[in-house]
Amino acid sequence: NNSAYLERQASTESNARSYPRKLTFAISKAKGMYIKDTDDNVYYDCLSGAGALALGHNHPVVQDAIRQQLDANLPMLTLDITTPVKDEFVQELLSSLPAEFAKNAKIQFCGPSGADAVEAAIKLVKIATGRRGMMAFHGGYHGMTHGALAMMGNLGSKSKIPGLMPEVQFLPFPYTYRSPMGDDGTACSELCSNYIDNILTDDESGVVKPAGIIIEAVQGEGGKIPASADFLQRLRKITKEQNIPLIIDEVQTGIGRTGKMYAFEHAGIIPDVVILSKAVGGSLPLAVVVYHKDLDVWGPGAHAGTFRGNQLAMATGTAVIRHIREHKLIENAAAMGQLFTTLLANIQLTKPCLGDIRGLGLMLGVEIVNPYSQETLCGKPPRYEQLSRRIQAACFSRGLILELGGRQSSVLRFMPPLTVNERQVRAICAIFEEAVT
Ligand code: PMP
Repeated sequence: NNSAYLERQASTESNARSYPRKLTFAISKAKGMYIKDTDDNVYYDCLSGAGALALGHNHPVVQDAIRQQLDANLPMLTLDITTPVKDEFVQELLSSLPAEFAKNAKIQFCGPSGADAVEAAIKLVKIATGRRGMMAFHGGYHGMTHGALAMMGNLGSKSKIPGLMPEVQFLPFPYTYRSPMGDDGTACSELCSNYIDNILTDDESGVVKPAGIIIEAVQGEGGKIPASADFLQRLRKITKEQNIPLIIDEVQTGIGRTGKMYAFEHAGIIPDVVILSKAVGGSLPLAVVVYHKDLDVWGPGAHAGTFRGNQLAMATGTAVIRHIREHKLIENAAAMGQLFTTLLANIQLTKPCLGDIRGLGLMLGVEIVNPYSQETLCGKPPRYEQLSRRIQAACFSRGLILELGGRQSSVLRFMPPLTVNERQVRAICAIFEEAVT
């Protein structure tokens, strides 16, 4: 059955399809963190809809929220006209943010993708500052629209597109694994932030002050690399001094995934702009930009998008955020992330190809290296794309779905739902160990 579906898909769907080339199945059912294919094989899903499914598939809380909405004949799509459902979502969202940020916050609803919210944030800070350019980070990922893609700090997906929005300056992300400074996080943070400070304060550098600086507090697609609290604090200080809005892209990290409601909270900073999508809609499409009211100088209609009034997604978003808070799932994400890290570190003892195990909460990555390679000059890790793909395939054939990420796709990414329990973590790690072996 699987192969018949795949053949039909290959003959009808765009050549740009990606996942089906690696995960060669057709999904027929899904519940919690389990997926069943059309041949009745069952898998652990550590992809979670690329992070959108905070509670896994078909959680009763999501099902009930959708049913209630439909049964009561509530409006389905209202553009940006308000409704009681929308009002409730806004209140829930604001109460989930640090009070110091929420008290001055404004919300822009966007077309439902993360990339659209990134576009809105770029326009917001450009209009608010009157400046044109942006600064973004090496290895960063912000979406596939031209503006968002222009800020992707990895050539992979954008090298073949001529004429991308050009005014983006890339900054060094504090990535400590086999860095030239060794694994000293503070030295790395200092070096990266000093560089940023220097180019912004040196009048002779030729660097034009940007409209905003955008960063993921934990790089997701870039390979699950956390920016240290120290670095984010330094970046916050520099951007404040320079009057540059600091945009935190929480599309993948937001709503509990990293063991805090928002990843920037690990650093105790207050950003100017926060971008949310994926889990914020409780598994349905929704994206918002939350920002300081002083930036709110754009006019009516400055950003629009037909599906920005997706009421079903607001209802599921409210229900999921509430459930996560009431059932201590953020604490669970932190604890299960710890357990994953411990078990993976145990496996690493006998498997030298597991180069680095890192992440925060349930946003974890294992960087696969070639332990026999000599390519460690200049701090370049000997990444091993071919092996990471083989491990992914070996996991898949044993019932575990892991996605790849990072430079040369050399990082295996573990992103189960926040509901994952100890038994499941142990089972996933056992499959992973067997696959690596
Ligand atoms: N920002 C980040 C940090 C992301 O991880 C993603 C998606 N992986 C996006 C933006 C883009 O979101 P979307 O795919 O919904 O456009």
